[in-house]
Parts: sequence; structure tokens; C-alpha cells
Amino acid sequence: MASSDKVTIIGGGIGGLAMANALQHFGIPFDLYEQSPELSEVGAGIGLTEATIRILDKMDLGNMLWRQGSKVKEVYMPDKNLKVRRHITVNSEMVCIHRARLIDILKSRLAKEVIHLNKKAISIETAKNENIITFEDGQSVESACTVAADGIHSVLRRQVFPAIKLRYINQTIWRGISEAPMPQNFGQSYLEIWDEDLRFLVIHINDSEIFWLGVKSEKPGGEDNPETIREDLLKLFQNFHPELKELIRTSKNVLRNDMADLGTVPRTWYKNRLVFLGDSIHATTPNLAQGGCQSIEDAWCLAKCLKKFGPDYSTAYETYQSLREKKVMKIVKDSWNFGKAAHTSNPFYHYGYRFLLTKAPKFILRKQEAFLNDLSYLREI
Ligand SMILES: Cc1cc2nc3c(=O)[nH]c(=O)nc-3n(C[C@H](O)[C@H](O)[C@H](O)COP(=O)(O)OP(=O)(O)OC[C@H]3O[C@@H](n4cnc5c(N)ncnc54)[C@H](O)[C@@H]3O)c2cc1C
Repeated sequence: MASSDKVTIIGGGIGGLAMANALQHFGIPFDLYEQSPELSEVGAGIGLTEATIRILDKMDLGNMLWRQGSKVKEVYMPDKNLKVRRHITVNSEMVCIHRARLIDILKSRLAKEVIHLNKKAISIETAKNENIITFEDGQSVESACTVAADGIHSVLRRQVFPAIKLRYINQTIWRGISEAPMPQNFGQSYLEIWDEDLRFLVIHINDSEIFWLGVKSEKPGGEDNPETIREDLLKLFQNFHPELKELIRTSKNVLRNDMADLGTVPRTWYKNRLVFLGDSIHATTPNLAQGGCQSIEDAWCLAKCLKKFGPDYSTAYETYQSLREKKVMKIVKDSWNFGKAAHTSNPFYHYGYRFLLTKAPKFILRKQEAFLNDLSYLREI
């Protein structure tokens, strides 16, 4: 069994890799263990907001992000025929990037020796002074500080906190990337289209690729026929503008997810020497496009706490949770409510929310933007 004074990170997704970069920034040694044979992500885009971009800047990754992603300048809320109902110029920084490019950026400054691939953690024994993590290949590591960043289906969380359950919102989301042009020359924009029970989102991610998402109410557990998925979605969105349907028609791959989160029941984010970050402890529905952003924010805050409190891990973990919890839980709640309102069959809420979105004074939207971009709590550490 290998023994380590280094921080042990389980999971090499957005949160785990951000944690590795943050620890490197603060000069704290670490090892990262990822179950897959390579560090990669699904073929889709991801939007990052200003607070996250500022953190990536501190990790010296911001320049790469701007070079490889697309700055989102305008938000439009058109109808399904692309007639604009609302237009908002984005005040703060916002970037949308191919997920694979984001992973490439996050791994670009990490030494190969600290990344251990094909390492699926299957169990953890966590005690007052140490954790022992066992991997599928039979090997184990001892670790004084373990960061679980193993995603919404976290094996470690299910073992340590079995009472935390997935909560499905009964909505299914499909995603794809197309090389067709941005509909109607909307340029470097984000389009959010609501039509009865359907939602369609379009985002420019670089000069040759457009990322789209389609959402519909549906119980979890459904499956697509890979042979007919594009035709099936074209039928579902048949009344939408032809240039929107062209995005579906020309996508190489279409991904499907049943939207879920981990709810808002209060919980502890750590036990003994084990601490959780990102989706593994506070997964959110993607309605506000914040899950990845919050994983990166967690990583920066946790690394700062570890730097400040050194081997006093209990204080580091407790401070990390107390600084992060309020913001994250509000996002989980708002994202859930937004998704519910967008697809409710109750016309009062559905049209009320639509009215709010298209007519709400800009200061309300700016307030939400300011809340998401606020990093002032980090001054406490
Ligand atoms: C449709 C959709 C759209 C989204 N859009 C956005 C967006 O625009 N902006 C945004 O900020 N967020 C968005 N999100 C959310 C975002 O994708 C997640 O919040 C983010 O990926 C969470 O990062 P993570 O590192 O916590 O978990 P993950 O990305 O799930 O990474 C977990 C990693 O751990 C590894 N792993 C799992 N189990 C083990 C194990 N036992 N041992 C070792 N390794 C393991 C996995 O292979 C993976 O690499 C979206 C999500 C969805 C579903």
C-alpha cells in the first residue's frame, strides 16, 4: 500500500482538475486518480461565468480560455421562429467553450507523474487521521487529505453519506455540436427559446462550431435509438425555425441526460479526512449553467483553506463549507425552480415566468449576474 502526505484527488473532471491546478498554485503537493484511460470530456459545450474566469486567470489559464472559447456578448430570447422578444447585452465576462478544450486547458500545466489514469476508486475507509482508498485494480493508497471530485454518481459519497439521494426534475436534455452557421447571423450570442413544454438553447462556441441543447418534460430512464435520434428530435422540434433544426440535423453526436441534482437538504461536505467538491456533493440541474463553474469555485476556495490551515484539516474543511455553502445552495434551488417554471403545466407559473424573463427590469437580471460573479467571501481566507 502506498502512503502519501500529499493531497489525494479522486476524479479528473472539471472539479478535480481545477483542484489540482489550485493546489499547484499554492505549492501543495497532490496526486490525482481518474477512472478513465484518459482525461477527456463529452462532445458538448460549457458556459463559464465571470467569477470562474477570474479564478482560471489566477491559475494562469485565462489566456488559453479566451483563445479557445467564444466570448458571449449578447443574450437573446426569441420565439421558435427566431423573432426576438428580448435582447440583453452581457455586462460581465462570459465564455462558452468545447468541453474537451476546457479539459485540455485544465490539464495543460499539470505534470504527467501526478495524474494516475485507469484508477477507479471503489471504497474508502475514513478515520480521524487518515483515509485508505482502494481501487478496482486491488491497489490502495493511504492519504491524510482526500478530495472527492468523482461527480454526481460519486461512489465515495454513496458510501460515506448514503442518505443523500439523486433528485430528478423529470426533464430530459439533449445536446449536440454542429458546424452549421449560427442561425440568422446572431453572432457570438446565446439564444434561449421557450415554446410550451419545449426549450431550445443555442450558443456560439468558436468560429466553426455551434452548441445547442433541447429540453422536454420526460420521466427519467428513457433511451434513444442512436439510428433515429436526429429524426426523432427533428419531429419533436418540428415547428421550430429551419435553421435551428439544421443544427440538430448536422450534429455528429447527440447526448442525452435526465436532469437531476442532489437536492437542498442540509448536509456536511466532509467526514474525518475526506472532503467533497463539485457535483459529488452539490450537483445542480443545468438550468443556470453553473455546476462546472461552482466546482471550479469550490476547488479554489478549498485549496486556499488548505493553504491557510495546513494540517489542521478539520478547520480547513469546515471553513471551506461555511464559505461556499450559501452561494451553492441558492444556485441549486434557483436552478431547480427555473427548470420547474419553464416546463410547468400550470399556465399561471409558466406564463408568469415567461413574462418575468421577457419583461423583467434589467436590474433584476443584473442582480442575479452580480450574485453569480461575487467572490468577495474569499477575502475571509
Ligand atoms: C446538459 C448539461 C449542461 C451543463 N452545462 C453547464 C454549463 O454550461 N456551465 C457549467 O458550469 N456547468 C454545466 N453543467 C454542469 C457541469 O457539467 C458539471 O457540474 C461539472 O462537470 C461537474 O464537475 P465535477 O468535476 O464535479 O464532476 P464530473 O465532471 O462528473 O467529473 C467527475 C470525474 O470523476 C471521475 N470518476 C467518477 N467516479 C470515479 C471513481 N470512482 N474513481 C475515479 N474517478 C472517478 C469521472 O470519470 C470524471 O472524470 C452542465 C451539465 C449538464 C448535464
